[in-house]
Amino acid sequence: MSVEIWCIAEHRGGVLDADTLQLLGAARKLGGTAVAVVCAADPAPLAEQLSTSADKVIALRHEALSDFTPGGYAQAIAPLARERQPGAILMLHSHFLGRDLGPLLASRLETGLISDCTELGWDEGLVGWRLVYRRKLLAKQKAAGAPPHMATCQRGAFMPAEASDSPGEIENLEAAIEADSLGWKVLGFEEAEVGDEDITEAEVIVVGGRGVGDQETFDSMRELTKLLGGALASTRPVVDQGWADRGLQIGSSGKTVRPRLYIGMGVSGAIQHVVGMRESDVIVAVNKDARAPIFEYADYGMVADLKEILQRLVEQLREMRG
Ligand SMILES: Cc1cc2nc3c(=O)[nH]c(=O)nc-3n(C[C@H](O)[C@H](O)[C@H](O)COP(=O)(O)OP(=O)(O)OC[C@H]3O[C@@H](n4cnc5c(N)ncnc54)[C@H](O)[C@@H]3O)c2cc1C
Repeated sequence: MSVEIWCIAEHRGGVLDADTLQLLGAARKLGGTAVAVVCAADPAPLAEQLSTSADKVIALRHEALSDFTPGGYAQAIAPLARERQPGAILMLHSHFLGRDLGPLLASRLETGLISDCTELGWDEGLVGWRLVYRRKLLAKQKAAGAPPHMATCQRGAFMPAEASDSPGEIENLEAAIEADSLGWKVLGFEEAEVGDEDITEAEVIVVGGRGVGDQETFDSMRELTKLLGGALASTRPVVDQGWADRGLQIGSSGKTVRPRLYIGMGVSGAIQHVVGMRESDVIVAVNKDARAPIFEYADYGMVADLKEILQRLVEQLREMRG
């Protein structure tokens, strides 16, 4: 039997983060047995859901796992990993697992953690590739320390594992957790403010990047969006400038979208944005710089000033709609 690759499932409020399936896809690509590890107070429904795509599921149950805490997850996973020695442990890079659990679990296991990988492989142990120096270089990194080695995977970098007709076996285990020593207590959650459009559901998305230059130009893109019957979205700098709500951000620390049509205006095509949109059916890019990386992903590209294109598109569409 091939080596086990453990993929830590991310979930909240009983809902599985669908990108967890990308970890299972990465595990299969590594040639391993794709094992989903789910920690929860009641992991049964999630375990069942995961079993359709995983070769095996380890469901770790404890009351203290009702909310995610790095200490709780580390106490649940570390002893089992020490005992069973999986070939590698994977988790999603963004959100709480990669950021809070990854470093803690790696230190408990005294092993190496490669973060933000866009590709994984073996070379006398686990190796991972990640973009560095403003994505100008691809670094190949090797996890040092005793196995099992760990890696966090960039969202969108791996194809999700496909569902199988024969569900993976589910192993139910009671986690041994000292609830008093977690060092962390979740007091509650506040939903982030989101705009009126749900960009993950939209079939057409018009995206404003930093190139829009100001709030007024970003807002003026709403008319094009309306005429196309789509949703307005943005890159992260636009959110950081305060021109758009955080719920409109596409990318590794925002949302993943797969619209039928993506129109990016003043978007450079940084990988952190691209991982959230590259599965779009048709990608159109407008950028005044012909060397902008977004053109590598675009089906149609316009090297032009976005304001000019925006105005002409709106005029043409208004005319077409009468
Ligand atoms: C941990 C981490 C997480 C991140 N997460 C995300 C994320 O989720 N989403 C995200 O988007 N980014 C994310 N980023 C930021 C990312 O690295 C890039 O900085 C960002 O995507 C760039 O956004 P942009 O394309 O709008 O801006 P820029 O890279 O500044 O590009 C602006 C583009 O506009 C063009 N332009 C300027 N004026 C015009 C004009 N008048 N007409 C036409 N074109 C014009 C320029 O040629 C340029 O290509 C993250 C970064 C880090 C470190």
